Amino acid sequence: MTNNSLLLEIRNLKLDFGAGDGAVRAVDGVSLSIREGETLCLVGESGCGKSVTALSIARLVPTPPASYPAGEILLQGRDILRMSKTELRDIRGGVVSYIFQEPSTSLNPVFRVRSQIMESLKLHRPEAATDDEIVRLLKLVGIPAPESRMRDYPHQLSGGMQQRVMISMALASQPKLLVADEPTTALDVTIQAQIIDLLRDLKQRLGMAMLLITHNLGIVGDIADRLAVMYAGQIVELAPANELLSRPLHPYTQALMHSVPKLSGQAKRLTAIPGSVPNLGAFPSGCRFHPRCPKARFDCPERPPELLEVLPGRWVRCHYWDAALPEPHQALNPNNPALIQARQASGN
Ligand code: SF4
Repeated sequence: MTNNSLLLEIRNLKLDFGAGDGAVRAVDGVSLSIREGETLCLVGESGCGKSVTALSIARLVPTPPASYPAGEILLQGRDILRMSKTELRDIRGGVVSYIFQEPSTSLNPVFRVRSQIMESLKLHRPEAATDDEIVRLLKLVGIPAPESRMRDYPHQLSGGMQQRVMISMALASQPKLLVADEPTTALDVTIQAQIIDLLRDLKQRLGMAMLLITHNLGIVGDIADRLAVMYAGQIVELAPANELLSRPLHPYTQALMHSVPKLSGQAKRLTAIPGSVPNLGAFPSGCRFHPRCPKARFDCPERPPELLEVLPGRWVRCHYWDAALPEPHQALNPNNPALIQARQASGN
């Protein structure tokens, strides 16, 4: 992990949709941080709350119908949830920029690429609002012949090229944090790899921090410094990427990894996670993953697990996370019933 200073800190964020008895909680006590230059990937199935968490960073979720009953979102030490509209305007597209899933719907079809990037420059860096800067930005994201392509309309570009234009618009303001919400989902597999390579390259060259939102664990290995896995509105595992990918500790993370196709080794049938993500407002009791968990035990439907730092830098929300470790480490889990029973028996 990088030792740079803290850029973003989300503390105990709660986000509700609706009001009164009909309110449903989409984000329930999420805490995350991102340091300058760091890439954090937020992974989970559709509907787990990852996109609304990401949109909350620039307060892009309309309130109402949403409300924030608790929590703080500290960006460079200032709480986004308590900012005025003018302060928020400076943050959006200035300190934080977004890339979304569908470039074809994010770009305006009636304006040429040039005028769309120019608009972003005029808003955030008026001193740099020139054709030379547009060409430089398009070159930065790997668009060939940028002098002529900037005169194209979006429909004249392929999906991959459209996403590159979106990335250049996001970079026009020289953001400290780039939030990429499923940036490759609408693209072909080969183009997905190119866009991930491009994001990794830009992160290294420009030194910006990145929050990458994805449902696909298969694309994060090459780019993430740390990974956070989300389920039913909560973080269930958070760890350095290499450690989490080599030994996931939460049964949900393990199941997600088993559902990713591998290019090497013997061809194996992919394992689907049984059932589906619970609906907002209808979360199961105890551990929210228990109806789908292959490792659930008798007390999982009754005892909600806390997110605990079980090893240095490794946070897990599961009573039985230590089942994934080799035998000598198993006693590390203070919630392990066998350990509790043994302690009670010995009177300690
Ligand atoms: Fe599975 Fe129980 Fe762990 Fe939840 S607490 S993930 S149900 S083993």
